[in-house]
Amino acid sequence: MNCPHCSSQIAPAQPVCSQCGFSAAAIRGYLGADWVKLARITDNAQLLSLKHTRHLETVLDDFERRFPQCFMAAYMGALPEALTLPDLGFWLINHGAFHTHQISRRNDFGIVLMIDPVRQQACLSLGYGLEAVLKETILTQILKKLQPLLTQGSFASAIESAVLLIDKGLQSAARREPRQLDQPPSVIGDASDLGLHTLRPPTRPLLHAPKPH
Ligand SMILES: [Zn+2]
Repeated sequence: MNCPHCSSQIAPAQPVCSQCGFSAAAIRGYLGADWVKLARITDNAQLLSLKHTRHLETVLDDFERRFPQCFMAAYMGALPEALTLPDLGFWLINHGAFHTHQISRRNDFGIVLMIDPVRQQACLSLGYGLEAVLKETILTQILKKLQPLLTQGSFASAIESAVLLIDKGLQSAARREPRQLDQPPSVIGDASDLGLHTLRPPTRPLLHAPKPH
């Protein structure tokens, strides 16, 4: 995944970023190496009303229906000075057990939005599988659009906007992706070569009646 400090590529097993010296172990030293349960909405700053939280749950439900392979979680809380939002995002992608309807999903397709209401900052961290799809420039644009909402203190709107903008980003990425088409099969033996499976055991049709002896 990308280094939370300089955005260069870091291999999952690589403990230190070769470009800037960022150390995943340092963050683990701070936050631990255990997995944590990551709810879709963690409001550690207690800024969302129950009504807002319920509404955001439905927004996230819609998102997950539209992109069944992805899932998104939002974290709101004031971080200590030693911890940056990208640090927390990096750690959550690696140590967060996303609480979604489908437990089979892996963090490769996870998205975490973190909001620090005191710093009035937001950050998006992506799993490995999404980094190639949602480029850094798209994320920067999304965060820029959230900034006025954060400054106003409209945190629920900021989360909703982030979900909708990511939805748009994923849609346009899906349109960009060229369709991979294989060569058409040159010979057709039977319907199974076309991906169709017969319900009866395969038998050859009897075209000629056997000659009487
Ligand atoms: Zn780095």
